Amino acid sequence: MKEFGYQRASDVAGAVALLGAEPDARFLGGGTNLVDLMKAGVERPARLVDVRELPLGQVEPTPEGGLHVGATVTNAELAAHPEVRRRYPALAQAVLSGASGQLRNMATVGGNLLQRTRCGYFTDVTQPCNKRVPGSGCPAVEGEHHNHAILGATDHCVAVHPSDMAVALTAFDAVVHFEAADGAGELPLGDLYLPVGDTPHRETALPPGALVTGVTLPPAPAAANSRYRKVRERASYAFAIGSVAAALDVRDGVVRDARLALGAVASRPWRAVAAERVLTGAPATPQTYAAAADAELATARPLPRNAYKVDLVRNLVVAVLTELVEEATR
Ligand SMILES: Cc1cc2nc3c(=O)[nH]c(=O)nc-3n(C[C@H](O)[C@H](O)[C@H](O)COP(=O)(O)OP(=O)(O)OC[C@H]3O[C@@H](n4cnc5c(N)ncnc54)[C@H](O)[C@@H]3O)c2cc1C
Ligand code: SF4
Repeated sequence: MKEFGYQRASDVAGAVALLGAEPDARFLGGGTNLVDLMKAGVERPARLVDVRELPLGQVEPTPEGGLHVGATVTNAELAAHPEVRRRYPALAQAVLSGASGQLRNMATVGGNLLQRTRCGYFTDVTQPCNKRVPGSGCPAVEGEHHNHAILGATDHCVAVHPSDMAVALTAFDAVVHFEAADGAGELPLGDLYLPVGDTPHRETALPPGALVTGVTLPPAPAAANSRYRKVRERASYAFAIGSVAAALDVRDGVVRDARLALGAVASRPWRAVAAERVLTGAPATPQTYAAAADAELATARPLPRNAYKVDLVRNLVVAVLTELVEEATR
């Protein structure tokens, strides 16, 4: 591993200034992704700026009736928080479905959102990869891609975003707050991750050197009736091969409000806007759920070895929405 400097930041402005002072510096959250990538030679920072002691470790109610989650709240703390469990159960379920207890104790909200793809070519520095070395090619298109994207990908990169948490946050219209050299800003989570296009190495719309300071969940009555379901190749300690975060408000047998996001299908958490349109105002029946899934997946462009994801996600959407309605009417 390349030698690197380490500094612990004690306030937000100081953290941003420390990072700005060294072009090759990186923020360090729990280190559960960054340090692995450093060991693999994918990341070679000159300095780490540790953000874990910043005063960003709280989950707090907002005046509007939502919740604000600080960037250094650990995954374990977030999943265990009573208000998260009560008001946004899909978020707690998503976080609990990720990694292991030990990792969740270390991993932070900011780090989870900005973790890098698990594409095997990306993490193997002996291989070409457009995301790691722009212009070097994407061997996954012709090679190993059974867990790669079916939506929104291009020939330049077909990797998926690995975060479970981000899928639930996307369904709930979360807003990401950041601090950059020229001041504070915010981005809807739906705009945080850039489309792949021909620049897969550009992953987020954050300004260079921006520190994520937290995430706000707006009030969403439908979110209390929500669920996250993840399919993976083994029962625990594995990334998703497909996932769904869904919230439904059904009254008199009609869907009044629907929130749906898909995971492990694209370079970013995939807000299922077309499906939500089909659901809203329609009878809450399995036929509607299937039509909604089909509408979303109409633009799917699977690769030869990941076409199974289309059926998998369709079945997941129908199953999760059916369960949500059954539970709400029990
Ligand atoms: C074996 C294993 C299994 C896993 N399984 C899953 C899974 O199933 N689902 C899932 O979602 N995740 C999974 N993970 C990923 C894990 O959740 C992430 O590694 C973790 O969330 C990253 O958080 P961190 O705080 O450790 O980030 P770090 O590793 O510290 O940082 C990750 C990136 O974020 C940047 N960063 C960190 N904090 C900030 C900030 N506040 N502002 C700006 N940039 C910042 C860092 O510079 C770095 O680029 C797994 C990890 C491992 C090792
Ligand atoms: S899918 Fe993306 S991350 Fe994987 S090899 Fe291709 S360019 Fe690299």
